[in-house]
Amino acid sequence: MTEIILATSNEGKIKEIKAAFRDADIKWLTAADFEDWPEVEETEPTFEGNARKKAVTLAGYFGKSALADDSGLEVDALGGRPGVMSARFSDPDATTERNNEKLLAELADVPYEERTAHFSCVIAYAEPNGDVETTEGSVAGHIVMHPSGDKGFGYDPLFIPIGYDRTMAELDISEKNKISHRGQALRQMAEVITERLA
Ligand code: IMP
Repeated sequence: MTEIILATSNEGKIKEIKAAFRDADIKWLTAADFEDWPEVEETEPTFEGNARKKAVTLAGYFGKSALADDSGLEVDALGGRPGVMSARFSDPDATTERNNEKLLAELADVPYEERTAHFSCVIAYAEPNGDVETTEGSVAGHIVMHPSGDKGFGYDPLFIPIGYDRTMAELDISEKNKISHRGQALRQMAEVITERLA
């Protein structure tokens, strides 16, 4: 069984990544499996830059392959914000509740047709020798007027994917993974990892 470090402490992401790789012979290691864990600051201006930074830092630190996710929500009426700042949109110690409230407040005067947005995700896989591969995915939709649903995480209760009449937070994890930004990036990454391990 191959061991890969999951370079994230976001429980929502961890669940979705494990579900996407359910059939693969991989043992995922998280912060709970180590006595120390390097703090990686997300200082890059792009999802790709931050995903690479997290995966490469963890792989170098522990001498083991690592997989990282950097992702976020880009809202057209807000010029692409919150983007790479999605996790810390309301303030540096943001909570999901405060982030979601701030997003709805900023869009208060924007009609539904103009509340277009997309989630983006970059997955990076780094090996201890410095090799790094990235894949990406994105899903388009609208930001609702009122939150709905209690599954998923983050902005899921506010986002209806195109072609759906339910928010991401009303979809089961397997339904979400089929269409989500993260699901798309993970399926491509599964092929990359399978090839590299072959
Ligand atoms: P990161 O740790 O900088 O990648 O932060 C990602 C942030 O983007 C999360 O904390 C969420 O606020 C948001 N986000 C990313 N992916 C999703 C998703 O699948 N659903 C809802 N929110 C997401």
